[in-house]
Amino acid sequence: MKYYVLFGPPGAGKGTFAKLLVENKGYYHISTGDLLRNEIAAGTPLGLEAKSLIEKGNLVPDDVVCGMIRAQFSSNPGVRGFLLDGFPRTVAQAEALDKILSGMGAELTRVVSIYITDEEVRRRIKGRALVENRADDADDEIISTRIKNYHEKTEPVINYYKKQGKYFEVVADGTIQENYAKVEKLVD
Ligand code: ADP
Repeated sequence: MKYYVLFGPPGAGKGTFAKLLVENKGYYHISTGDLLRNEIAAGTPLGLEAKSLIEKGNLVPDDVVCGMIRAQFSSNPGVRGFLLDGFPRTVAQAEALDKILSGMGAELTRVVSIYITDEEVRRRIKGRALVENRADDADDEIISTRIKNYHEKTEPVINYYKKQGKYFEVVADGTIQENYAKVEKLVD
């Protein structure tokens, strides 16, 4: 079983590339952002807790997202592999993921990281706000908090995986098709 992490700042295109990889390679897509938005829409206690954090551009607690990942692995046996999108977002989550996988007798295959500049992050998120109607995409201050959280809490994850020799980066400076072609080359 293959386990890939699609890594990158908000708006890098992780969700877009994940959808294409599902179509072309048959992997199972797990997006913690989508799972959290489903919880919010369903009005669950977890959703209520997540809503106030997401609306401010802050991260949801590590144990919450790790629990969701564990549940997704165990409720989807027999797939070819998993694409993790938006997870791990902290070094603690990366460590937890290694533990979850080793507990299943498995290990992470590789991390495919999508690089775009902060300026591009802002431009893309603003464009997406017009299409997807996400409150956390429409507000400059919330976007700034998300970019700050990315640099402070998520970027250190890069070194964690570099040390394991599992980090592969794509510079997403072309069209969607060109960028996707680079991503696909890194996935079996
Ligand atoms: P984007 O890629 O635009 O940041 P996501 O859909 O991945 O969007 O995430 C939306 C929000 O959900 C994040 O800003 C964060 O508040 C929360 N979230 C998603 N994944 C995680 C995670 N792994 N850890 C903590 N919070 C998360």
